[in-house]
Amino acid sequence: MTEKLYLKDSYLKEIEATVLEKDGNKVILDRTIVYPGGGGQPMDKGFINGVPVVKVEREKPFHVLEGEAPEIGEKVKVTIDWDFRYRIMRMHTAAHVLASVFYKEYNAKITGNQLGYEKTRFDFNVPEFNRELLEEAVKKANDILSKDIELKIYEMPREEAFKIPEIVKLAGALPPNIPILRIVEIPGIDIQADGGTHVKNLREVGTIKILKMENKGKNNRRIYYGLEP
Ligand SMILES: [Zn+2]
Repeated sequence: MTEKLYLKDSYLKEIEATVLEKDGNKVILDRTIVYPGGGGQPMDKGFINGVPVVKVEREKPFHVLEGEAPEIGEKVKVTIDWDFRYRIMRMHTAAHVLASVFYKEYNAKITGNQLGYEKTRFDFNVPEFNRELLEEAVKKANDILSKDIELKIYEMPREEAFKIPEIVKLAGALPPNIPILRIVEIPGIDIQADGGTHVKNLREVGTIKILKMENKGKNNRRIYYGLEP
């Protein structure tokens, strides 16, 4: 099956891979760096020999190409749009820090999240909500983001992981039903079961900037944020 290299090293921008299967304009590779999308993180802009990957299928990780696909056994070059991915990594780590502030300080859970290049949507439930509270939360998150803290990514058996109360901050969302979970830990700040890509150090994120806030009811406060620089 396809080795998901982005889970082990999110900084890979270009790799060589071998085509294992082919079906029309789609192929299965022995390894990939193209994040398929999921968990609020958008799919990478990936390329195989320069041809855009339009989709990575779920059941079997077929990479669907915009143009003609290479042949079985062929060695190919897999690349991603690094500017896009790196920004999404920074947005993703920022989201974890913000989620931990809301969780610890305001007892709020995340009800939705969509990472984006320019802006990220972040929904949470908290009884009282106003501009001051939001600005205070973002300031707390930005203080944390200025710290020199290295992230830790490792695996943990599912049962052990579920003993950690804050492992799932997404309201109603449980990690996939697999015996071993991938854990993304920001030591002293946050720990979550997560299948996405993150930066190595909090200092890479920059600062969160509030772009917009919307009140969609008690269980759905919504903000959009960007990053600086
Ligand atoms: Zn995440």
